Parts: sequence; structure tokens; C-alpha cells
Amino acid sequence: MLIDLSGKTAIVSGSTAGIGLAIAKGLAASGAHVVVNGRHREAVDRAVAAVKAAVPDAKVTGLAADLSTEAGATDLVHAHPACDILVNNLGIYGPQDFFETPDAEWRRYFEVNVLSGVRLARLYLPGMEKNGWGRVVFISSESAFNIPADMIHYGFTKTAAVSIARGLAKRMAGTGVTVNSVLPGPTLSDGMAAMLEDEAKASGKSLEDAARDFVLANRPSSVIRRAASVEEVANMVVYTCSDQASATSGAALRVDGGVIDSL
Ligand code: NAD
Repeated sequence: MLIDLSGKTAIVSGSTAGIGLAIAKGLAASGAHVVVNGRHREAVDRAVAAVKAAVPDAKVTGLAADLSTEAGATDLVHAHPACDILVNNLGIYGPQDFFETPDAEWRRYFEVNVLSGVRLARLYLPGMEKNGWGRVVFISSESAFNIPADMIHYGFTKTAAVSIARGLAKRMAGTGVTVNSVLPGPTLSDGMAAMLEDEAKASGKSLEDAARDFVLANRPSSVIRRAASVEEVANMVVYTCSDQASATSGAALRVDGGVIDSL
């Protein structure tokens, strides 16, 4: 299968690192004009350079904006009034006990992980509908279904992403626009590497070994018995954004290494 996205514009939120950057590279490699995004100009410039290094003829533009805010979304729409592909990748995570998680933190997780994607979908879906073609992907997580007891404030945002994608798919029924959620499992992204860095240093393990041990200890239902790479997750997203995926809408697509233990 040859995925050709030339002529399409793709926006990937939170794509200066990790899974988002890998998605940006994957979409660029398939010919899309990709807009990478992060909050800080320098990180955005570095990400643009990284996409160009990975894909020499890449069409890539950067936009520094905090997409968890209305002002950030407005900046994005001013710079890029339309897109064909929207990947709502932006997301934060980290363990915190339920009894120590104040209202402000619940609100922050809602704003960054949920409302950012809702807002961008509301802004870009009408243009896609008018064109009769569009792809929206919400990056959820296996934590949408396996709510981690130490990350309830995160898990609920990822369940929300599955719910919103399913509802939007129905709302866009018959328009040529598909909306799906993609559920990665533990993935060795920059964010996960930062989480494991101290432990890896203290134990003398490589990051890959620390990630594998994290998976075995914390996600024992993993079938692949290791963390996924960011590229493995990006491959699923690029396919979901392709022409070839036209009969897939409203789906919760797992790239979780088998962590979710259900049929
Ligand atoms: P990461 O921390 O490696 O990268 C996150 C990116 O988002 C960075 O580029 C960061 O600068 C950017 N960012 C953060 N806040 C921002 C904001 N307000 N505005 C714009 N950009 C912002 O993250 P990751 O591990 O690659 O995760 C990406 C997505 O995948 C998230 O939605 C996460 O929940 C999901 N996910 C990750 C894993 C995993 O194990 N890594 C597993 C399941 C799901």
C-alpha cells in the first residue's frame, strides 16, 4: 500500500517531541504539508529541522502556540485557516494520587488533553466537510480503558477522547470526513524518557531496558513485553489519515502492544 498525502495539509498539535514529532515525520514522508506545533519558538524550529532531516523534501511549517488555550487556537487558525488532516496529539501525563490532586490540576488536564482537541475539531471540521474529505485523529491511550489508579485525572481525559471521536464521527456521517481515536500503549517518547531518566541513571540501565521493566511491572498484560517506539505509533496514525482508511471512522484503534486485555 502506497500512502500518498501530497496536496494535503496536516496539523499535528504538540509535535516538537515524542509521538507528535514522529507523526509529523510520517505524514511529511507521505507527502503532506505538515504544520508542527509546540509552545516555544526554539523547540518548534528544532522540530522543523528534525522533520527536514528525516524527510529531505519535506513541506513543513512551524507554529509556536499554546494550543491548550483559546488564544493559541486562534493564532493557529489565523496562520492556517484550513487543513485536511488534524491530529490532536497534545497531551500531558504523570502520576498523582487522587487525594492529592486539586481542582486546578483536574482543570489543567481537561484544558490541555480534552478541550484543546474539541476546540480544534470545531474550528477545522466545517472546512473539511465543505471539501468532502478530511481526517481527524484524537491521540487517546490504553489508559482510556485501563484507568491507572495513580493517574485517574489522566485516564478520564483519554476516555473522553474516545467518546468525542466516536460522537464526531457520527456527527460527520456521510461527509467524507473520518474521525477516529488512536490508543497507544506505553511508548518510549521524550515524555516517557524524562519520566524514566532518573531511575535509568540510578540503576545503570539503558532507557529501553528501563522502559521494558516499567512495562513488565506496571502493564503486565502487555503482549509485546516492551514499550512501543514512537514510529510504531506514528505508522497507525499515518494509515488512519490516508485515503486508504476511508471506511474506518468512529473507531478506537489500538497500538497498545496488547495491553488492553479484551477482545
Ligand atoms: P511528549 O511529552 O514526549 O511530547 C509532548 C509534546 O507536546 C511536546 O512537543 C511538548 O512540547 C508539547 N506540548 C506540551 N504542552 C503543550 C501545549 N500546551 N501546547 C502545545 N504543545 C505542547 O509526549 P508523548 O509521550 O509523545 O505523548 C503524546 C500523546 O500521546 C499524548 O496525548 C499522550 O497522552 C499520548 N500517549 C502517550 C503514551 C506514552 O507512553 N508516551 C501512551 C499513550 C498515550
